Amino acid sequence: MRPEILFSLFKPLTTLPGVGPRNGAQIAHLAGGDRLLDLIFHLPVGIVDRRYAPALSDVQPGRVATIEVTVDRHHVPRNKRQPYRVSVSDRGGALTLVFFRGREDYLKSVLPVGETRLISGTVERYGDALQMAHPDHIVAPAARAEIPAVEPVYPMTAGLSPKTLARTIAAAVDGAPNLPEWLDSTLLSDRSWPSWKTALTAVHRPDEGAALEPTSAARQRLAYDELLANQLALALVRRNMRKLAGRSVDGDGRLIDAILATLPFRPTGGQDGAIREILADMAEPERMLRLLQGDVGSGKTLVALVAMARAVEAGGQAALMAPTEILARQHLAAIAPLAEAAGMTLGLLTGREKGATRRDLLADLESGALNIVIGTHALFTEDVAFHDLALTVVDEQHRFGVHQRLAVAAKGQRCDVLVMTATPIPRTLMLTAYGDMEVSRLEEKPPGRAPIDTRVLPMDRLDAVVERLRHAVDDGAKAYWVCPLVEESETLDASAAEDRHRHLTQVFGDRVGLVHGRLKSAEKDAAMAAFADGAIKILVATTVIEVGVDVPDTTIMVIEHAERFGLAQLHQLRGRVGRGEHPGSCLLLYQSPLSDTATARMNILRATEDGFRIAEEDLRLRGAGELLGTRQSGLPRFRLADLADHGDLLQMARDDTALILNRDPELSGSRGQALRVLLYLFERDAAARTLRSG
Ligand code: ADP
Ligand code: MG
Repeated sequence: MRPEILFSLFKPLTTLPGVGPRNGAQIAHLAGGDRLLDLIFHLPVGIVDRRYAPALSDVQPGRVATIEVTVDRHHVPRNKRQPYRVSVSDRGGALTLVFFRGREDYLKSVLPVGETRLISGTVERYGDALQMAHPDHIVAPAARAEIPAVEPVYPMTAGLSPKTLARTIAAAVDGAPNLPEWLDSTLLSDRSWPSWKTALTAVHRPDEGAALEPTSAARQRLAYDELLANQLALALVRRNMRKLAGRSVDGDGRLIDAILATLPFRPTGGQDGAIREILADMAEPERMLRLLQGDVGSGKTLVALVAMARAVEAGGQAALMAPTEILARQHLAAIAPLAEAAGMTLGLLTGREKGATRRDLLADLESGALNIVIGTHALFTEDVAFHDLALTVVDEQHRFGVHQRLAVAAKGQRCDVLVMTATPIPRTLMLTAYGDMEVSRLEEKPPGRAPIDTRVLPMDRLDAVVERLRHAVDDGAKAYWVCPLVEESETLDASAAEDRHRHLTQVFGDRVGLVHGRLKSAEKDAAMAAFADGAIKILVATTVIEVGVDVPDTTIMVIEHAERFGLAQLHQLRGRVGRGEHPGSCLLLYQSPLSDTATARMNILRATEDGFRIAEEDLRLRGAGELLGTRQSGLPRFRLADLADHGDLLQMARDDTALILNRDPELSGSRGQALRVLLYLFERDAAARTLRSG
């Protein structure tokens, strides 16, 4: 349960003075949540320094200045379209205050003629004169203290006044509790980090811009808290899964030998290494939780199959869960010949298996008649019971969110878990998404792959591209034509693909097919099948093929509006060609003008096919938040930490986590109790609940 000391932070922000339902909703939208907690984590992006206080004769236009002036005259406009002006002056100069839609009675009360006032705002030059539109502050000299010397600036939305926002956030920060210290005292003194509340106050009330720098002690402290919560939560969830009794899964190697004997090739060194690591891990009495990382085409399927064969040798069953139905079928097609040659029985279970087929399959799973089952998340719905599930393989492809899925995969089972991902995740991101999980990497590709010829062309060369494609297709080549993401909308995606399909049909006739997310499964399958067996030569597709298709004799990949795709996504798409014996080519079509970042992305793709290098570059160019497109990435989003700036803190947080759990596994000591508060502060309730109460 959430500790009482945090209750106030989880209250709605409408409990603050001056915040009603309307501006409350605007503020909530801006802060990404409607609780005080969301407000205090909404950090300023800059400051306004009001300490510049020149005489009007010296003032530099363009700067924010605070000036003492005498009010000379009000110029009430004749109609509403003209602004309301007030002439003011000091000993050496004059200035016009400008108010659009200014209210006469109000302005006359705050700026009485003949009186002295302090005004603060941006001074501009207008012809020969100086003016200030809508001063931020107007106060009588006696109330000088009401003008803050330095004000934080928050990212804004239209319709909300900066003053209201700043005042509301300041109130939330003032009211925030002093939380018990969860950081190690030596760390705090070594780094000169302030307490949580002091750090929070410093970043929201920066005297100088310095507190806002990512390297400031206050920012570092807050970022470290967030990273520590992340690492601690991952470690706890993982430990909890491991606690469910595991078992040693071992075997005599007879099925594995049979599979290797049937293979038309020899495993690569990387595959051998990964297989060794996985089999050793499975033989341990603890549960395996391991990640198998390797680019598209690096040969993960064989590694997974060998692991599954080991589970069967041990007398158990194995399940392989794919992210889509198409991919599940493809895995089945790839695995079935080898598995059956070794004498194992296989089944398929997706949302589409219904009625008697499904009933029979479930019965065979429960009796143990089936050794291996391949499917989608339908594998882990309520009514599926295994005879004895020893291994689950989760094929993530490029998606994250492993922890939720691990939980699904492990539902009530004490099986080993192997997660396969085609995303070459940079190390820093690995840590945030998976914590300290064991990893096997396939870095080399199977031999005999020619490099992919990658070219970058503007969209206005479309006709030339189509012409070249026509020659290639006449010579027997097959091509994917990928259409762009349109504002992440499936409907618009589909219509862009339909348009291109119509256009290409005029040139290629019935040799063009179409797949997109809005088609029915049967239609998708039919198009895929026609493409696989060569009835169709060009497959126009949205990014659905990214996680789907494996047609090894496809050699050409055309990607339209390549500038709209992320680097990792382009890399994944490109990996779909040149998998057979003929070299592949990839045409990246872009809409001019290309931004600097997009140009850099295209250059990297031309320069290398190394997925790990591409991933590092992607992180550098776009920042973690945008990697792979935030929406589908499922990566944890940090509010206070920025991995580009705080990557070293992440390493520290990982080491700190290991030490903490080693010394106080149930977080029951006094620092442990404070760390529980930290977990709840960052809403890692599920992780905190794995701890013994107390
Ligand atoms: P991934 O799942 O990592 O994308 P796959 O397992 O689908 O890659 O393998 C891609 C292709 O490479 C498949 O056609 C597979 O048969 C082939 N392959 C796998 N391992 C080897 C190897 N050691 N030598 C030659 N070809 C291989
Ligand atoms: Mg594969």
